[in-house]
Amino acid sequence: MEPATWSCRPDPKPSTASAPPPSRYESQKRRDWNTFLQYLRHHKPPLALTLCSGAHVLEFLKYLDQFGKTKVHVTTCFFFGHSDPTSPCACPHKQAWGSLDSLIGRLRAAFEENGGRPDTNPFAARAIRMYLREVKGSQAKARGITYQKKRRKAAVTTVRLDVD
Ligand SMILES: [Zn+2]
Repeated sequence: MEPATWSCRPDPKPSTASAPPPSRYESQKRRDWNTFLQYLRHHKPPLALTLCSGAHVLEFLKYLDQFGKTKVHVTTCFFFGHSDPTSPCACPHKQAWGSLDSLIGRLRAAFEENGGRPDTNPFAARAIRMYLREVKGSQAKARGITYQKKRRKAAVTTVRLDVD
């Protein structure tokens, strides 16, 4: 946890000949990273990246739920366990598990690309893996979805973080 040791580490990826144009993944990653930094700046009290723990990342994920577009039925809802509700209900919208999962993957990479040490990477915390597993399970139940069966090739779920 010593900020001064955050020097430029060599890129762990095999170096490619020339710099490729930023891919969709790369630009999404940059956007996510900026969103997270912005979140830290607006955090009360403001939070330095170096002091950021897995608990703060969990807070961030929960904060993102308000921008989610995936309806997750509560257990008392008539549509609980139905993937195709036939009428509107009052259940909250959340970030879909798949979106959170890929978001964490991008932020984990971005953290290390921006000088963070792998052993202090808050996005790699065990608590987050457990949280994601829990979200996956509960959303699968609530939405009547088995993720294994729904592996369409359009699984390029981009997170829409409409955060300003
Ligand atoms: Zn509902």
